[in-house]
Amino acid sequence: MINDSEADWFHIDVMDGVFVPNISFGFPVIEAIKRHAKKPLDVHLMIQDPDKYIQDFARVGADILTVHYEACTHLHRTIQFIKESGMKAGVALNPHTPVDILQDIVRELDLVLVMSVNPGFGGQKFIRNALLKVEQAKNLIHRNGSQALVEVDGGVNLQTGSELVKVGADVLVAGSFVFNSNDPANTIRELKELK
Ligand code: ZN
Repeated sequence: MINDSEADWFHIDVMDGVFVPNISFGFPVIEAIKRHAKKPLDVHLMIQDPDKYIQDFARVGADILTVHYEACTHLHRTIQFIKESGMKAGVALNPHTPVDILQDIVRELDLVLVMSVNPGFGGQKFIRNALLKVEQAKNLIHRNGSQALVEVDGGVNLQTGSELVKVGADVLVAGSFVFNSNDPANTIRELKELK
């Protein structure tokens, strides 16, 4: 369904039960998705110590790899390592983490992921402060001549999606809203038509 839909990427949430209070899946599942996916794999790591696994994620076919600011002590090194491993690099910010903290790394990034829920579970309510953060992220990116896209993850539906696109979001992640709808492909089309 996703291959035939207007979705641009597969967004894959990897959780370790340590950085977030939930466990999702690991390499065998991603490898299986990669075998069938006709679109890039956008892999969002909600894990502690992502450096240990960066090459494994490249090997199983991640095209974009996003790590959490809160999970990386040496973020610059981690971002370099992701890019040297042949992937695009993103940084995700939890709801409490200010956007300005990316000032000295934003030029190196392909993606800034604004979390609009606390990471760990699907189906949560959108945190409205994310709208302000998307605006701040766009400004930071422009001010620094970065090419990074702004992605938003959590509580995205047609209402919040429309507001997010208006403040400059480039990429919307939608899970529950798409997969719980009666016609997922059509729901994806409606999200893609937002402007
Ligand atoms: Zn995600």
